[in-house]
Amino acid sequence: MRLSFEYFPPRTARGETALLETARRLETFRPEFSSVTCGAGGSTDAERPPWRSTLATLRQLRANRLNAVPHLTIREDSEAGTKEALDHYLAEGASRLVALRGDAPGAGAGLTQSAETLVQRIRRHSADAFEIEVAGYPEVHPQAASPAADIENLKRKVDAGADGVITQYFYNLSAFLHFRDRARRAGVEAPITPGIMPLVSFSRILRFSAACGADIPRWIRQHLEALRNDQDALVEFGVEVVSRLCADLLAAGVPGLHFYTLNQWRATAAICRNLGL
Ligand code: FAD
Repeated sequence: MRLSFEYFPPRTARGETALLETARRLETFRPEFSSVTCGAGGSTDAERPPWRSTLATLRQLRANRLNAVPHLTIREDSEAGTKEALDHYLAEGASRLVALRGDAPGAGAGLTQSAETLVQRIRRHSADAFEIEVAGYPEVHPQAASPAADIENLKRKVDAGADGVITQYFYNLSAFLHFRDRARRAGVEAPITPGIMPLVSFSRILRFSAACGADIPRWIRQHLEALRNDQDALVEFGVEVVSRLCADLLAAGVPGLHFYTLNQWRATAAICRNLGL
């Protein structure tokens, strides 16, 4: 079973210390890799491409002997910009990438390039130096023209050279199983690893889910809302729900689990322990 943990580049010295603590604690579960996001949430800074922060965090984690790998976005980047990032990651010894179109301000509206183009660029520039993961959407990407168009887009990314798919998070097991079936029927043979988001905050999960189109089932929302002022009870509820989801996914034969840790370790560690990992 392939376990992986996702982190974002911290913005403060305190955040850096907290991330290293989180990564150190989660390393005890022996993840295959730890991935570092790139400009997630649509942050922009024209002077500094978002991969610069990803690279800095990747270096810190690798200096602490973690197998950190980058997320790379294309947004409106030129081919030369993509190559510059790839050269840095090759020099760092990263052997895997998560290749994404990227979020832009306003939920990505107006972006003209796609993750498929990014995968083509990576293969053109770096041949087989990287294993490439791309994103999949069990509950359909919010900008997809239709569920079928979304699966066709996934197939194009894999045909362009991706080795695996990591999904957006979800709390409906059947949405994932249905997505996996549809992908297989469309000819996507690459392993599909579910993305797992621990439930640790009512307001945060509502905000994320509104932006990325992941559904929070009514019963989960009701519980989180009722527990919003009792953090311990909320996390306990979330750990129970997400542990069961993960156990069901493992029973359904998924190749691994990819945790969106939000740079926090407690809930992710509790779920991993519940699963006997
Ligand atoms: P694409 O695969 O290019 O597609 C996006 C949507 O556009 C899909 O609905 C697709 O069907 C549609 N589409 C694309 N091309 C066409 C076409 N020709 N015709 C019709 N429809 C089309 N964002 C970040 O900014 N940084 C990160 O580090 C990051 N990490 C992520 C990690 C994972 C595992 C996941 C699941 C998402 C991550 N994201 C990240 C979010 C991601 O960037 C957004 O979901 C983005 O809106 C889409 O990226 P994509 O790579 O799926 O894009």
